[in-house]
Amino acid sequence: MSILEKNPVLNALLTKHLPSLAKREGLTRQAILEAVTQGTMVLLANPGHLKVLPTLIGRPAQVKVNANIGTSPFMCQVKTEIRKLKIAAKAGAHAVMDLSTAGDLDEIRLQMLSSTRLPLGTVPIYGVAQRMVAAGKDPADFTPADILDEIKRQAEQGVDFMTVHCGVTLRGAEMADKDRVLGIVSRGGSILFRWMRRHRKENPFLTHYQEILDISLKHNVVLSLGDGLRPGAGADAGDGAQWEEVITLGQLAQQALAFGVQTMIEGPGHVPLNLVESQIKGIKRLTNGAPLYVLGPLVTDCAPGYDHISGAIGGALAVVNGADFLCYLTPAEHLTLPGEEDVRQGVMASLIAAQAGESATGSPRARQRDLDISQARMDLDWEGMARLALDPDMVRQRRKEHSQEKECAMCGKFCAIRMRED
Ligand code: SF4
Repeated sequence: MSILEKNPVLNALLTKHLPSLAKREGLTRQAILEAVTQGTMVLLANPGHLKVLPTLIGRPAQVKVNANIGTSPFMCQVKTEIRKLKIAAKAGAHAVMDLSTAGDLDEIRLQMLSSTRLPLGTVPIYGVAQRMVAAGKDPADFTPADILDEIKRQAEQGVDFMTVHCGVTLRGAEMADKDRVLGIVSRGGSILFRWMRRHRKENPFLTHYQEILDISLKHNVVLSLGDGLRPGAGADAGDGAQWEEVITLGQLAQQALAFGVQTMIEGPGHVPLNLVESQIKGIKRLTNGAPLYVLGPLVTDCAPGYDHISGAIGGALAVVNGADFLCYLTPAEHLTLPGEEDVRQGVMASLIAAQAGESATGSPRARQRDLDISQARMDLDWEGMARLALDPDMVRQRRKEHSQEKECAMCGKFCAIRMRED
């Protein structure tokens, strides 16, 4: 039996939305059905998220961009986070993740779900750990039942995809902790390692994976199999801990597909430019082509304040080599919680990476967009350029600032295009 026969919720969603999905992606219905059946494409849509725009992740669908938002214990303004959500959507993000770790997390999540059509993702262990801290306990005092309760509640609320760090094993976490420059940098991974050491047991997300699959199947929650051991420094990229986790994630993705649950794989992290290709191809190979959702990759460690650029360079190369979904980085990465302008800049940087990468792989849609904007430039058609630009508002605003003439203020009367025309 295929995933479509085992997952009646997914089957019903595809039956209803296949024509519009095929039109939006420029794909045949058959191509979508085949990719979903093989587990190389997923449909983000939990029917409990009433206004969700069902969204495909995985080639040959368009590469998508995710924006992370959410409160932190130092900055906890729910209204600001809702504004960031709207800014991310307006800038062109295709999905958002609520990474809140402070305040009333259920209320924040419900507000986000009711405020957006974009698929919403979460990291349930944050909610579990935050409940412990709010009760005056250690973040790692939770039980496996707490995890399952949290996942079930969030699935019922309508969360479309969840990061679950099922691939962090005791062996892998100990290797990362002992041998690395920067140890474990994932918040979820570090909470889990703390739990495993305190309780002297294997990762509860791994030992209770089947129960997580049961919940996910019921609500068509896509499991984003988290990279809790992703490298947090270029020097740590490609070590044993990282690949140990990738192997486990590949096995878990296969188990999920056989059960009827959709999965994506989360990827690095900090990866030097020369290793991006081998990392992306290696992860894809070990996970049987499951949709790959990458954070960056950041190609240098020395650009705090500009990590959206470092991440976009790695992101573009990752897309060329097969990444399907880019998680944005903002100028605030490594420094503070992103502000509203950080969110906009992060989305734009990732959209540039996606467009550049897809154009390089020969995507007809991406190439046509580059060609069309070039033609608009040749025609000095400023409104056409704005429409085709990744940030139309920016084009209109900058154009207005210095010139209302046919040419712009860059070269003025020395405009190469006007000279040719004249
Ligand atoms: S003035 Fe220069 S930059 Fe502006 S449209 Fe003409 S050639 Fe391009």
